[in-house]
Amino acid sequence: MRPSPPAVPKTRYPPDWPEIARAVKEAAGWRCLLCGHPHDPATGYTLTVHHRDGDPSNCDPKNLRALCQRCHLLAQAWLRRYGSPLGRPMLPGFASPLA
Ligand SMILES: [Zn+2]
Repeated sequence: MRPSPPAVPKTRYPPDWPEIARAVKEAAGWRCLLCGHPHDPATGYTLTVHHRDGDPSNCDPKNLRALCQRCHLLAQAWLRRYGSPLGRPMLPGFASPLA
């Protein structure tokens, strides 16, 4: 009988991600850092936490930004297009709140 394979994690988020995410949102005053809209799921502005480098396992505070769902989608599109802003100079306009 072969040993069962090691469990494959379903996610790269750490086990304490809910607490980490909550702390990031509280530090942001429960507002999106990009558009400034307060957390308000009833109107489609649920606050989420964005990983600047796209790696959910990297929960360094420098890598995390509180963004509403709408801005989170923009941030992820920006990340796919341009890559991680970590280690880069701040870009003017749209990119700067993400950096
Ligand atoms: Zn927003």
